[in-house]
Amino acid sequence: IIEAHDITKEYGDQRVLDGVSLAVEEGEVLGIIGPSGSGKSTFLRILDLIEAPTSGELSLFGEDVLSMQNRWLEIRRRMGMLFQKPIVFNASVYDNVAMGMRYRSENRAEIDRRVQETLEAVGLSRYIKSSARDLSGGEQQRVALSRVIVTEPEILFLDEPTANLDPASTATIEEMVLRLNRERGTTIVVNTHDMLQGQRLSQRVGVMIAGDIMQVGKPKEVFNNPANLQIARFVGVDN
Ligand code: ATP
Ligand code: MG
Repeated sequence: IIEAHDITKEYGDQRVLDGVSLAVEEGEVLGIIGPSGSGKSTFLRILDLIEAPTSGELSLFGEDVLSMQNRWLEIRRRMGMLFQKPIVFNASVYDNVAMGMRYRSENRAEIDRRVQETLEAVGLSRYIKSSARDLSGGEQQRVALSRVIVTEPEILFLDEPTANLDPASTATIEEMVLRLNRERGTTIVVNTHDMLQGQRLSQRVGVMIAGDIMQVGKPKEVFNNPANLQIARFVGVDN
């Protein structure tokens, strides 16, 4: 469902992605682990068509997308992205979640039904009328997640979805992610620098180091048989 080939990204004279290739199967959860600054967020923004790579090839849903920017908006509607810092607007929890659907054409009753259903699933029903900015960090991240999943994306990108969250909030988000994959078959790519989280969530992990995904495999394979010294060092360090 995602095929990236030899993707590079340069900001000025800094090369941030150095020829990344990765294929993600429909219905799989793939983790991207790697140290801070290795290019994980940049790669996710490119997959989500938020920015264009400097060079490379990218196919999404079987379509070669880089040559047709006029189709990006339509393709982006089939995908969703949760950013590391929860984005919540100064409005009620209901409005924050409904916002995800407003620019699609669902009717009012359908919006109501899906917002309620989603908030129930993430355990926030009782805050539906509260001001989103009054909630805790973990609750705000669940509001942001709700806004993305209420649109039922076929591909979901999560950029460090639980960084800065306490263990209980982290567990809630992880359960939600696994449930989406199990029940809806959502394809999920999740960035994390927490290797244990990569292991808990993903069927396969890719290790991004210095702008390249150097190894992809089942978490156990990668941890037991790192392909090179840089990966060995990274997976050997408990961070
Ligand atoms: P972290 O784990 O800390 O989130 P990361 O692996 O997500 O790190 P990126 O955010 O992709 O890493 O950044 C990779 C490199 O690209 C960094 O050196 C960063 O400073 C640089 N970079 C990212 N975005 C931009 C930008 N818009 N302009 C210039 N440099 C950028
Ligand atoms: Mg990042």
